[in-house]
Formats: sequence, C-alpha cells, structure tokens
Amino acid sequence: MIIDLHTHTRPASTCSIMPPEELVQRVKEIGLDGVCLTEHNKVHDPTFIQDLSQRYGITVLQGVEMVTLEGDILLFSEHIPELLEEIREVISVRKIRGIVNQIGGAIIAAHPLRSVFLSQDSYRTEIFYKKIQEVCSRILLRWVDGMETYNGNDLDIQNLMALEVSRELNLVATGGSDAHCAKDVGKFFTIFDDGVSCERELVEALKEGRVKAGSREPLMERGSDK
Ligand SMILES: [Zn+2]
Ligand SMILES: [Zn+2]
Repeated sequence: MIIDLHTHTRPASTCSIMPPEELVQRVKEIGLDGVCLTEHNKVHDPTFIQDLSQRYGITVLQGVEMVTLEGDILLFSEHIPELLEEIREVISVRKIRGIVNQIGGAIIAAHPLRSVFLSQDSYRTEIFYKKIQEVCSRILLRWVDGMETYNGNDLDIQNLMALEVSRELNLVATGGSDAHCAKDVGKFFTIFDDGVSCERELVEALKEGRVKAGSREPLMERGSDK
C-alpha cells in the first residue's frame, strides 16, 4: 500500500496553497492508495477526514508536523488532540518522547538533513560520509521511531544522505512529498507491507518497521553530476 505521508493543506497550514479536497483528488489521480495530512501544529476534525476518504475512495489519514528544540518531527497517533494539548510550546524531542510514550504514537524525524550545509564538494565520497557521521550523532535521531529519508522539498543529495543515515542507525525510513501544492503531491511516498486503514494501524506499521521509503522518479545518484 502506497501512502504520501507528509502533506500540507490550507487553511490549516498557512504555507500551503492546496485545499484538502485538491490534495485528495490529486492523490487519487496519480494512483496512490492513500495520503496523510500533516499540518503544522493543527489537527482536522476526524469526521472531515473520514468524509474525504469516503468521497474520493482512498485512504485518508492524519498526523501533525511539529518543531522541537532539535528539529522538525512528524507525529502519528490516534490521539493527536491530546498530544497537542500536552505539547503547547517548542520543547525537546526527549520530552516529546515521554509524552508520546504515555499517550501513544510514533515520532518520525522530518527532513533531518535539511539543515546540513552542502556544497559541490559534498558529493565527494570523503565529505559525503563525514557529513553522514555528523548527522548520525544528532540528538533528534536518538528519540524517534524513524526518519524521513525522502522529502520532496529536500535535494537529492540530502535524501541520499538521509538514506545512508537511516541504514547506519538502523532507523525506519519513510518518504513524503511535503507538498504544499498539487503538482508536488506523490513525489515521494511510503510503501507499507500491509494495508493501513486508520492512524492506529499506521503507528503499528511504523513502529514495527513494516515500511520503506519510495520515490516516483529515481534520485540523482552521487557521481552522476559533478
Ligand atoms: Zn518541516
Ligand atoms: Zn512539512
């Protein structure tokens, strides 16, 4: 089952120009099985999400994207309102881990390579692997259930590095378009071994690692552009 696990719609996410209906319509058009809305610090009424799912005949789920002291995360849970109630300001990912352990859910590091400084040199093997080691030591990655290795707003080199980091740390790897407009939807996605029909099943699949990151087009490999 193929789901775009990271998307933003308006007006819930002010940075997006895409209403939820347009997102779901687009996901259906390009042939994915489902989509997960991950607004910034906001949750939709679950009946609205269910209604979208029924109207368009695909799986529609939701999570939330949040800023922590150590970087952005995606939170997936069947209890997002309770989590938002507990997490009212920017706190450490360690504290969020504690709250999520109590309430239930999975934490995925969002675009963990975005802040890494890159240059033309970064494709050189030695520098490429040095940067990967730097990222592997990030505190953020100690407290998550997995990490986004493919993010639609990151460069191919960042996504390639993220994949290496996930392998090095043995972390579950997910993909999402991080789309803010229809044309970007489904650029990256997460492939689930089994069917996922609700947030609880989504969390289980992530925690058990029954997922992998997928890409619509092949990433530009290291060495193909120097
Ligand atoms: Zn973000
Ligand atoms: Zn995002």
